[in-house]
Parts: sequence; structure tokens; C-alpha cells
Amino acid sequence: MKISVFGAGYVGLVTGVCFADMGNETLCADIDENKVNQLTQGRSPIYEPGLEQLIQSNIKAGRLHFTTDLKRAVAESDVLILAVGTPPREDGSAELKYIFSVAETIGAFMLGYRAVVMKSTVPVGTCARVQAVIDSILKQRGAKLEYDMISNPEFLKEGTAIEDCLKPSRVVVGCHSERAQKLMKRLYDPLLRSGNPLHFMDLFSSEMTKYAANAMLATKISFMNELSRVCEKVGADIESVRQGIGSDPRIGNSFIYSGLGYGGSCFPKDVSALVHAAATLGEDMKILKAVEATNQFQRERFFNKIKQHFEGYLEGKKIALWGLSFKPGTDDIRDAPSMKIIDLLLNEGASVAAYDPEAMGNIKQVYNDKIKLTKTS
Ligand code: NAD
Repeated sequence: MKISVFGAGYVGLVTGVCFADMGNETLCADIDENKVNQLTQGRSPIYEPGLEQLIQSNIKAGRLHFTTDLKRAVAESDVLILAVGTPPREDGSAELKYIFSVAETIGAFMLGYRAVVMKSTVPVGTCARVQAVIDSILKQRGAKLEYDMISNPEFLKEGTAIEDCLKPSRVVVGCHSERAQKLMKRLYDPLLRSGNPLHFMDLFSSEMTKYAANAMLATKISFMNELSRVCEKVGADIESVRQGIGSDPRIGNSFIYSGLGYGGSCFPKDVSALVHAAATLGEDMKILKAVEATNQFQRERFFNKIKQHFEGYLEGKKIALWGLSFKPGTDDIRDAPSMKIIDLLLNEGASVAAYDPEAMGNIKQVYNDKIKLTKTS
């Protein structure tokens, strides 16, 4: 199949590379010229285990290409995958301007049938809005062209993204035509050989499934963090409790580790986007609001423990941090709990020395010389 992926970030790049590896002719398009130049030379702009090798082998095999020419990306492929960012706006809602910008490009340059596949995480109703944008541009052009709008949320985890993409636990597809179903089945068949399911549903349900997944996982984390506080007071060990409940298959072992709370580019923004979207419909998501509050509190609580240890006086103290990315196996520092701790420490006059095997470069860009990045002392 001929596939174009819009956005060569964590999701777009991994998706493009994996589909190329499955034998598809894949073109990754991004507006960031530096990124595209780097990728064309076979260098990955992000750290993700196994990614750079796959980029290089697929470029070599002639199946993987990169471009800043968005028009070409629309014209050359039948399958157009949107994987641009949907970062949080100040009010917590999802910023959709990158999505609509790609929709406009598709409307302006498509020449025949296209499958328009939404892989970015978007609020319910966004696919319908993208359709409206494409339809209105096609109308202006006087072009009567068919296309299918398909929702196909991504569930990969940074750190194991390649594995997750090549062997997904499930694939969710929202669409309304048999043609789209057949196409998506063909696209994913090679990745679902082990029998994992492909769930077909309507567009709205598919869009909501992604938010439901992230909100549920964030809830598990906040629940354990809240429980850990009570454990501490009564003299119980949250680690033992975790083992004791995780082996119950109804609960499971994933996402029940207490710690500094969730961070990263997805959970915080997706939970707040869902809370915001529900509020606009008159629904108050009380559980998720508590999940967010618990998550914020957990970071401050940890910092307060450090402060208490030094009897409330951190001026001139030297504090070391190990681990800066939001989780192991990635260099992504978006909403990393480490940064909140660093900010609070610096604010109180402490000096900070920090180490991370992958994320030092990204952290350096944020803090420059305000903290010492070091492997030793
Ligand atoms: P990212 O910020 O890493 O990458 C987005 C890319 O899109 C950037 O390289 C940017 O230059 C590019 N871009 C912006 N406008 C463009 C345009 N008009 N045309 C082409 N490229 C354009 O984002 P990400 O982390 O890959 O996330 C992408 C989407 O996938 C988001 O909706 C996110 O919520 C979702 N998602 C992310 C993850 C994850 O672990 N990162 C997992 C599942 C889903």
C-alpha cells in the first residue's frame, strides 16, 4: 500500500517506520525541516529503542521516505495518516490547529479516493469536523472526490513503541464504510497474526476509546498514590499491597505502582481534555478531577518530604536526581515529574545535580546551566 504519514513525531515516525517495515511504500511528512533532514540521513530525532536501526534499514530498502512537501504527501498516497500533535491549550482543551491545517492540505490537494486516517488523539467529534473542512474545500474546488474518514487511535507506549506498534494488543478502528473496513483490515493484517483483535466501531466511539484508555490508566496510578499515603500513616507497605492486589486478574499488575505521579505527553493532557470536553456538555467528571489533583499533589508532597528532612531549609543544599525523562526508555521530558521537583528545589535555593541515560540533552535545553548534568557528582 502507499501510505503518507503527517507528523514525524513519536507516533507518526514509529507508525511510518513500522508500516514501511511491513512492506508498504511510506512517506513521512513533517513541517519541521531540521527533523526531516535528520531523518533523511537515517538519524532519529528521538530516542526510542530499535527505532534508528529500523529507519536505516527501511530507507535502504527504498520503502521509507521523508519530506516537507505536504502536497506531495497528499498526492502520492491512497492512505493518509494524521499523527500531528494535539497539545493542551491553557484551559485544558486539546489544541486542534495542526489537525485542521492537515485537513485543509488534504482537501486542497487530493486528486482521487483517499482513506483519511486519524491517529492523533482527538476529542469526540473531531473526525466529523475534519470531514467538514475537507468537504468545504472540495466544494470550493468543484471536485467530486470520494474519501473515507477513519478513526484509528494509537496505543503505543514510549520506550516500547516499536514492539507495541508491530504487535498491538488490539487495534481500534472507527469508520462507516465497508471499503474503509476492508482497507484497514488489509493494513493491519500483518500485525495481528497472533490473533489480537481489530475492533470496528463508529467514529465517536473510537475517538472516545482512546481517552477512556488513558483516563483509566491515570486513575489506577492516582488511586495507588492516594492509597500509599494511607499506607504510610498506618504502617503498611504499598509495595506489598501492590503485589497483593496485582495478582488478582480483575485488577492486574500494570499501572499500580505508586511514585511521583504520571507525566509525559499523553496522560496529563488527555485527562484534562476529557474533563474539559465533558464540562462543555454539562458533565462534571468528578473522578478524573480527583485523579488530576492527586497527581499534582503527589509531586508537591514528595518535595515537602525533602524539605522536612532538612528542617524546612533548602538554601545551599545540593540535591541529586536520578531519572529525568517522564519514564524509563525514552528521552521525552514532556510534563516529567522530575522537572516539577527541580523547579521547586531551585526556587528554595537548593542546587541540583542530575543524571539520566537518555534525557540529558533535552533537560539541558530547558535548564541550561541552572542545574548540573553529570554522571558522577
Ligand atoms: P510530537 O509532538 O512528537 O509530533 C508531532 C509532529 O507533527 C511534529 O514533528 C510536528 O512538527 C508535526 N507537525 C505539526 N504540524 C504539521 C503539519 N501541518 N504537517 C505535518 N507535520 C506537522 O507528537 P506525538 O507525541 O507523536 O503525538 C502525536 C499525536 O499522537 C498526539 O495527538 C498524541 O496525543 C497522540 N499519541 C501520542 C503518544 C505518545 O506516546 N507520544 C501515544 C499515543 C497517541
